Amino acid sequence: MKVLIAGGGIGGLSLGLSLHAAGIVDVEVLEAALSIEELGVGINVLPHAVRELTELGLGEELSSAGLATGEFVMFNKHGQRIWGEPRGLAAGYRWPQYSIHRGRLLGVLHRAFVDRLGERRLHTDHRVVHATQDDSSVSVHLASGAQVVGDVLVGADGIHSAIRAQLCPGEGAPLWHGITMWRALAEAAPCLTGSSMVIIGHFGKRAVVYPITAPAHDGRALINVVLEAKTGDGRPIPRQDWTYTVDRDEIRALFATMRFDWLDVAELIETAPQWWQYPMVDRDPLPAWRSGRITLLGDAAHPMYPVGANGASQAILDARTLARTLAVWPTVEAALEEYESTRRRATAAIVVANRDVGAEKCKELAEQRAPNGFDRVEDVFAPGELEELSTRYKRTAGFAPDILNERPSLSIHQQPRPST
Ligand SMILES: Cc1cc2nc3c(=O)[nH]c(=O)nc-3n(C[C@H](O)[C@H](O)[C@H](O)COP(=O)(O)OP(=O)(O)OC[C@H]3O[C@@H](n4cnc5c(N)ncnc54)[C@H](O)[C@@H]3O)c2cc1C
Repeated sequence: MKVLIAGGGIGGLSLGLSLHAAGIVDVEVLEAALSIEELGVGINVLPHAVRELTELGLGEELSSAGLATGEFVMFNKHGQRIWGEPRGLAAGYRWPQYSIHRGRLLGVLHRAFVDRLGERRLHTDHRVVHATQDDSSVSVHLASGAQVVGDVLVGADGIHSAIRAQLCPGEGAPLWHGITMWRALAEAAPCLTGSSMVIIGHFGKRAVVYPITAPAHDGRALINVVLEAKTGDGRPIPRQDWTYTVDRDEIRALFATMRFDWLDVAELIETAPQWWQYPMVDRDPLPAWRSGRITLLGDAAHPMYPVGANGASQAILDARTLARTLAVWPTVEAALEEYESTRRRATAAIVVANRDVGAEKCKELAEQRAPNGFDRVEDVFAPGELEELSTRYKRTAGFAPDILNERPSLSIHQQPRPST
């Protein structure tokens, strides 16, 4: 079976590696960029995705490229602590959670892909334009005019997917509800435990801060900072380009008061050498991903708000699930149906949960119930309410520790073939 993958990002390269591990080695990745560059800022890889990368034999590489996230803590805009919980091994998972530079994660996947499948299977400067298919094959048409033929095509070409546009004509651009994100990396001393992922404020004015490296000898680590504010009224959507940089005047004005004795966000704004801007966008969940021999994966299938750290993790889960179904099911069509039935509704639920601030619901409730702050968080939330909110999101996103720790592996050699 020859599998064509449009897009060599986190999802596309994870799929190539997963197919190889499942015994499908005839794989071609068609990537639009001129080279695989380690771009982006920090992201989190949740334990369910770390499990999959570990089962692909990348556990050690991940652990040296990222920093194990120790805790997840939420504060109101006054810097008062609402909720905190351990993450990764400290929370009882069998796998860590990592805070990691997106580019370094891509680098881990890229090196493994080249080692295992060979460089000649990863084609840069190959922009996919559209695809045609018949009963026995699919042809991918490239911007260069060339064509590549295979048995299956997976659109892993990100939020602006050409393959999705073909499957959903008329869908148009991603949806923007007026929130702009500014992203940066700053060298500074990490706050709290040194591996804390900290979220401050509320939807519409929020800061996300966490280290992605251990501190160096001078005590400074590389700190990921994402600032978000509602800027939409009357303003056009910011440019949708992950590499677009802006000056810091606007964020300086918006976040000047975010200074606490345990973290000085205003200082991080100055320390970071550059700021990237991107609109917070997603798309509505689709009623179907498959068309014949073509399907979607990662942001092409289910772009979601970056709330709860699920973008990369869900792409990795898609990849492992799809590789398994392609290896196990007797026909391409049956495999794509099985993949979709496992992943489409599950990821749609996260898209919807993230619009309602997902893992961070307690911050919104704190803002509604106590906009001027509180003396005791117990005066704002009912007993058990904070824990219940946290557990609910983990279940929606598929990383409740009991379920994850117990579920069977997606690796091929550990599962029997289903009867058809
Ligand atoms: C350069 C870049 C920087 C990013 N930085 C961040 C960040 O800092 N923080 C964050 O939360 N998320 C970031 N993301 C998005 C994040 O990687 C994804 O949300 C997530 O990892 C899901 O991965 P994906 O593989 O589905 O999509 P992506 O990682 O976006 O990968 C899609 C890939 O498809 C390629 N592609 C696009 N169109 C075509 C086409 N027509 N033909 C062939 N190839 C195509 C792209 O070049 C890219 O390599 C970034 C994405 C990119 C491309």
